[in-house]
Amino acid sequence: MNAEKTTEEINDRIRAKRAVVLTAEEMKHFIAENGVSKSLEKVDVVTTGTFGAMCSSGAFLNFGHADPPLKMEKLTLNGVPVYGGIAAVDAYLGATERAEKSKTHYGGAHVIEDLVAGKRVVLKAKGRPTYCYPAKSVSTDISLADMNQAILLNPRNAYQRYNAAANSTDKTIYTYMGRLLPRLGNITFSGAGELSPINNDPKFLTIGIGTRIFLGGGTGFVISSGTQHSPETGFSTLMVKGDLKMMNAEFLRGAYMHGYGCTLFVGIGVPIPVLNEEIVRQLAVTDDRITVNVVDYGIPRLARPVLKSGVSYRELKSGFVEIDGRKIRTASISSLFMARKIADTLKRWIERGDFSLTQAVEPLSTSGIARPLTLRQPEKIVVPRGKDRHRDAVLIDHARCIHCDLCIAQCPHEAISKDAENFVRIDSEKCTLCRTCVKICSVGCFE
Ligand code: SF4
Ligand code: SF4
Repeated sequence: MNAEKTTEEINDRIRAKRAVVLTAEEMKHFIAENGVSKSLEKVDVVTTGTFGAMCSSGAFLNFGHADPPLKMEKLTLNGVPVYGGIAAVDAYLGATERAEKSKTHYGGAHVIEDLVAGKRVVLKAKGRPTYCYPAKSVSTDISLADMNQAILLNPRNAYQRYNAAANSTDKTIYTYMGRLLPRLGNITFSGAGELSPINNDPKFLTIGIGTRIFLGGGTGFVISSGTQHSPETGFSTLMVKGDLKMMNAEFLRGAYMHGYGCTLFVGIGVPIPVLNEEIVRQLAVTDDRITVNVVDYGIPRLARPVLKSGVSYRELKSGFVEIDGRKIRTASISSLFMARKIADTLKRWIERGDFSLTQAVEPLSTSGIARPLTLRQPEKIVVPRGKDRHRDAVLIDHARCIHCDLCIAQCPHEAISKDAENFVRIDSEKCTLCRTCVKICSVGCFE
């Protein structure tokens, strides 16, 4: 008997509303009671979920053109700077960007939540006027519905697991892992353990580029491994995108962590098709087999001392971890409640036939380790300043030429042509040194 299934067969069952879907937590019990073969036979899809602070998040927004149009170079939304170095009215709003008023606890993550909640936000933008964009500034209010596109695109989400944090110093410290009490007064941790997406498919047998997922209450896709993807150390990540207009503010929450700054809580759920026994064996993983180190955030270095290694999510979730004979209280900075809600919601979507599975077009990498930044004495950077003005000739840098032929068409004296080897040549008899070519060649071939 061929026990394997295909994604298409499962999608047929989803369409017929006959798919058997379990959450990752339910699946672990099912496998323990029924074994691997029967689990493969009976279960079609397993839903995972995670809901935590995912700083590496943000949204590409397109505002549309005003009249007269403006090339938006410096812009803010509700006082939060938005990166405008992409075309005229495209911008990227980063989750951790803080509002310009330094005391505020409001940032890019809060703007994202406000937009998704249907609120209007104030857009202020400035730019240097050009012929095509004559306006100098605009100020307006805008909603998500007014925008042409609003795409959540998060470079690094859904960490497979994350080291737990404690503090050995004599002072309370405030970190992105929350408030850490002195002298190992508490331990904080992040992630949903056995419910987290990547822990249920660490070899990326099903999750890959093009995997359709639950993202922020709507649907999204895995578009790459995430930045700092480190599968060889068990710290893989996902890069994801989805239409912000289809999302729900319940699953995208702006947050401020005292002493750290702004971040976005993102809800992600990944469906895992149960295609073969190897996938079932991956899905059997439980919290006691997913371990992290407890590291000392009191030491302000990248390589922080490990206070205890091999601490399982089972221990972390139990409320206490023992270090050197001391029981230390643990607390999660993620929400297991919301992670369960996401896995349940995705399960219902699939059972109702509203969410079908995609087959990844390319698997994510299972090799590689995230590296630290090496600090070196920078070499003197020479920033190009304008071109030298030659009085007696126009010089051509053939290596830069992209062969658009604009210079040939626009030389007012028909002095430019191509030679037999397709190189741009200037006829010095005809050239008047008007320098039109210097201005119009967009890649700077002439000087
Ligand atoms: S305009 Fe510049 S890039 Fe285009 S053909 Fe002329 S030299 Fe080459
Ligand atoms: S300097 Fe003026 S005349 Fe000479 S090649 Fe360039 S565009 Fe033509």
